[in-house]
Amino acid sequence: MTQRIFLSPPHLTGNELDSLREALEKRYLAPAGPTLAEFEADVSNILHIDPQTKRVVALNSGTAAIHLALILAGVGPGDSVLCSDLTFIASIAPASYLGASAMFADAHPDTWNLDPERVREAFDSARTHGRRIKAVVAVHLYGRPIPPDHIAIIRELCREHDAALIEDAAETLGATSGGVPTGALGDFGVLSFNGNKIVTCSGGGALVCPDEETAQRALSLATMAKDPAPHYEHSAIGYSYRMPNVLAAIGRAQLPHLEERMAQRKAVRDWYMERLAGLPIQFIPEPEDAAPNWWLTCVTFDNSDSSPTGHARREAVRMALAAADIESRPLWKPMHMQPVFAGAQAYLNPTGSVGADLFARGLCLPSGSTLTERDVDRVTGVVRAALG
Ligand SMILES: *Cc1c(COP(=O)(O)O)cnc(C)c1O
Repeated sequence: MTQRIFLSPPHLTGNELDSLREALEKRYLAPAGPTLAEFEADVSNILHIDPQTKRVVALNSGTAAIHLALILAGVGPGDSVLCSDLTFIASIAPASYLGASAMFADAHPDTWNLDPERVREAFDSARTHGRRIKAVVAVHLYGRPIPPDHIAIIRELCREHDAALIEDAAETLGATSGGVPTGALGDFGVLSFNGNKIVTCSGGGALVCPDEETAQRALSLATMAKDPAPHYEHSAIGYSYRMPNVLAAIGRAQLPHLEERMAQRKAVRDWYMERLAGLPIQFIPEPEDAAPNWWLTCVTFDNSDSSPTGHARREAVRMALAAADIESRPLWKPMHMQPVFAGAQAYLNPTGSVGADLFARGLCLPSGSTLTERDVDRVTGVVRAALG
């Protein structure tokens, strides 16, 4: 019996139990405790953050971090939030929690990430129609950062229109763009420690705040907004979003292995490239002036002049992999194509939606850091046979 190959399974380091034991011996079973502060310090180090400036707040999910970032950016009912079209819905769902309208900007064909020209169009159009874009959620997709020249344009547009730049770096912990770690490039940074990410706390997230005062507001909102008083006094509505201390202990065991996990995921990408050479397959573009964390290896299948189409090739490969007990996934279905966002404004590439094309022809291959060269042989054997 061969074993099922998963897309991006968690990878234990072997130190998790010791770290948990240490946290529990300090008798901080719950809720907050010293381990949480240590975890935040570890994350700050990875993001090269000077605690005198930005501040990391550990939360129970990346989605919670986006929700709090939007609140702190002043997003409310009637406002608009502009988001990458090609992403996981967690990037934008919290805008809906707040009664704001979602708007989407297409991917750039050379990066798969937010196209600055579409962002410019969205701002121009919003101004014409009297809509206020309060925040831009810029996603770094599949481990590949938005290149620094694109970040610079998006940042300038946000500054010009007084919108907050929220970086969704849930998929790019450890990656850098122009030498700056993702998550530390925007006004707010969002991280995720969910089970399929490059390192995990089992579940969890973090919000990178622009200053100590904003971090204190984030902390307050994450813990039910208790005013300073001996009794429970509330002058705002809060949430229960803080990361549990015990999960921070798991994260503390995982984080020191981040560099190693990045190298392992890059090796997986390289093995795929060697073995799939010569096939009608393109790999996810690698950004210029940026260092990825190689989270997932994603590919697209070429259209041919006759049949089969890239979509048909993708489906043939996806189903052959499923039959061989190998997990793969189509790329994200663009947000503007999601039933729940029918009618939302979307600024798409004039020659056709880049996101829709990637969704039709793209596939995420198993990319976990536990994958062996023999596992990759098994995957690529099935891919080759299916493209026969
Ligand atoms: C995983 C992910 C999130 C959300 O993180 P959770 O911790 O699962 O809430 C947000 N955005 C993107 C792009 C993600 O991949």
